[in-house]
Amino acid sequence: MAELARMVSPLDGQDMTRATVFPAPDHDHDSCASAAIMHAEEFCAARGQRLTPMRRQVLQALLASHKPLGAYEIIERLAQGGRLAPITVYRALDFLRENGLVHRIESRNAFVACVHHHSGGDPVVFLICERCGTVGEAPGGAMADALKQSCRAAGFAPKSPVIEIAGICSHCRE
Ligand SMILES: [Zn+2]
Ligand SMILES: [Zn+2]
Ligand SMILES: [Zn+2]
Repeated sequence: MAELARMVSPLDGQDMTRATVFPAPDHDHDSCASAAIMHAEEFCAARGQRLTPMRRQVLQALLASHKPLGAYEIIERLAQGGRLAPITVYRALDFLRENGLVHRIESRNAFVACVHHHSGGDPVVFLICERCGTVGEAPGGAMADALKQSCRAAGFAPKSPVIEIAGICSHCRE
């Protein structure tokens, strides 16, 4: 995993250090979250899409932390005792996922906001900390190539490779 942590990210061209995969527990998360909202706004505007109030609220709920939330947790947070049609939240989640602003963590049946501003097709390895629940995103280009080769050799057409690794993050290990 150390090799992976030092790899140059195809996501941003930035150095993929441990700190960028797993932000420190005391990092400035407010600026993290507002940067992600700003990116989402610019991203949608550039595509002629709208970050509607519901889409923004769902993204904001997920940006409360780097931990994934289930759809019902999002609905509960947004409803706050009031009424909210779950379908509107699901639709917003679909939109955010299709645009790479939110990822689905299959093994947790939950969603996490993307703070790496990469393009939707970039192969990503999700690193899920079993202690603090944080989800880190590591570049998965080399692994994706190897997987494609294995699939090709098996005559298998892969659809959506999802790579999720459970473990303990760099901060929880300290
Ligand atoms: Zn943060
Ligand atoms: Zn991402
Ligand atoms: Zn952790």
